[in-house]
Amino acid sequence: MFKIAIDIGGTTIKGVLLDENKIIKEFSAPTNGKLGLDKIKQNLFFVIDNLMCENVKIIGISSAGNIDYKNGVCVYTTDNLKGFTGFKIAEEVQMRYNIKTVVDNDAICALKSQIEFYGADKTLVMITFGTGIGGAVLSNGKIIRGKNFDGARLGHSVLVPNGRPCNCGKLGCAETYLSCTALYNEAKKLIPNLDGVKQLFALYKTSDKNAKIVMKEFAFYLNIFLDNIRTFYSPDAIIFSGGLTKDFDILLSLIDKKDDIKLAKNAQYAGCLGSLVQID
Ligand SMILES: [Zn+2]
Repeated sequence: MFKIAIDIGGTTIKGVLLDENKIIKEFSAPTNGKLGLDKIKQNLFFVIDNLMCENVKIIGISSAGNIDYKNGVCVYTTDNLKGFTGFKIAEEVQMRYNIKTVVDNDAICALKSQIEFYGADKTLVMITFGTGIGGAVLSNGKIIRGKNFDGARLGHSVLVPNGRPCNCGKLGCAETYLSCTALYNEAKKLIPNLDGVKQLFALYKTSDKNAKIVMKEFAFYLNIFLDNIRTFYSPDAIIFSGGLTKDFDILLSLIDKKDDIKLAKNAQYAGCLGSLVQID
């Protein structure tokens, strides 16, 4: 049986074709999330078209935003995906391809992809470090959904009162200090010709003075964030995924208390693969 799994992020729409549970093809395209719903849909269908083959039985979609997973609708998202709020993702994809489609929030999908490695009765926290910060919590085996599918959105917990403005309208959200975007923007103030976070990490490894200043500040906020998470949920593990975890060893070196910090298994595909895992 073939399955397609898609991950709609703020920057990239990533997709894989699976034969049973084996990835046999990958295809990605830019999301162009700031250009509005029509463009995002066009890119989404472009990725699915490129993965489609005969006998695909299910399409799983992991999406940024608050997702009504029962109906496959995005009930709210920031302007990282402009116009996406209200979009009936499952219905439109299902209509176009006539294939059963399931949708869930991207951090929840990443979390669901890890449950088989830790056990379904555990308390697990997933943090995705990407364009934004995604958060999801499995509490004693139950995913925290919240009343509007907006529970445990850890990236929008306030880390700094009256701090940096966030896409969500609040000030000082964790996302504005700990996402790839935030880290890059801060680093550019000291290293103007920086071309990405990857280069920042490379500079940090060479003990570059400016890179060390930026990472020290990042570490300060990251440790407060993790301490809050431990206080709220007392998790068995705090699992990291997303773009920033490509240099997981550096991230880990910044963290004061390391024993419960884990890198997601198959981190690169965690969102995609978890979209096909169906649990409440
Ligand atoms: Zn926010």
